[in-house]
Amino acid sequence: MDYLLRLLEDLINTPSPTGATDWVMGFVENELDAMGITGRRTNKGAIVANLSGIKHDRPRGLTAHVDTLGAIVAEIKPSGRLRLSALNGVMWPTVESEGVTVTTRTGQIRGSIVLTNGAIHVNREATTAKRDADSLEVRLDERTNSAEETRLLGIEVGDIVSFDPRYEHSQSGFVRSRFLDDKAGVACLLAAMKALNDAGLSVGQDSVVLFSNFEEVGHGGSEGLPMDLSELVVIDMACIGSGQNGDEFHCSVCLKDSSGPYSRELSDKLRLIADSAGVELKPDVYPYYGSDGSQYWRAGGAAQVALIGPGVDTSHGYERTHIDALRDTATLLAEYLLEE
Ligand SMILES: [Zn+2]
Repeated sequence: MDYLLRLLEDLINTPSPTGATDWVMGFVENELDAMGITGRRTNKGAIVANLSGIKHDRPRGLTAHVDTLGAIVAEIKPSGRLRLSALNGVMWPTVESEGVTVTTRTGQIRGSIVLTNGAIHVNREATTAKRDADSLEVRLDERTNSAEETRLLGIEVGDIVSFDPRYEHSQSGFVRSRFLDDKAGVACLLAAMKALNDAGLSVGQDSVVLFSNFEEVGHGGSEGLPMDLSELVVIDMACIGSGQNGDEFHCSVCLKDSSGPYSRELSDKLRLIADSAGVELKPDVYPYYGSDGSQYWRAGGAAQVALIGPGVDTSHGYERTHIDALRDTATLLAEYLLEE
């Protein structure tokens, strides 16, 4: 758990909006290197690692995504401020007042997201105005009052904008941060791999691990994994909220999301493994959700696919989970990896 939490904080503090994941992938590579595992970068920038198993007859895959929400500069306004376009499912009201970093071709510039003409002493509509991509803008922490001055700072349309994650870990075990989706999943997967590695244990079956980098835009799972795997376990955040069966303290197994049902046989196998490991795995159905597993299937993948992950509150907003959910997820993954 110490490793998992340290890793999670470091991962979260390494910005990686979809389309700008090189830096964080270097970080993942270092973690794999430390375990003596070689990660191969795909052309699209994902990482694939092969673990050789005791058995080879039912090769399996595991995947979690490293890319997160973020934004891209869509326009440099005449005021010198920036209009953004979302990468990808940003809930705009939740990023108002957030600190941001604009990564230009030459450097990085700080700023924050504010409502256009947002002073209450000037604009009485400021309290009730709709918060969206058009009404919010980036106010740069630089002296600029025109598009020309902003361009002189090196900023251009198409620059990537990352939001401050505001990671905080409480004594009571809560982890509150943006981008627990899916860095919590990545940390659980790496922690499970490290636990086996430290104990000198081999995985039960040949396994391919994909750290994908285009999940948030819907095509991360379409490359990097062999299409003829027997099983694929996707680790991604569990939906919690009104009507959901999961919660922040548990790992969920998703039996169906917007893309349809996941594999019954593999899901049931994970539930059995959870039972014998003392992990209370919550079966659930996610209303508005898709995963790299559904994408793997759409790309022609033939494996049985199951989806598990820690419960994450207010997903795509200011998220929160609990170490109990992280521990259960990592434990289940370690037990699954060991199983032959
Ligand atoms: Zn996700």
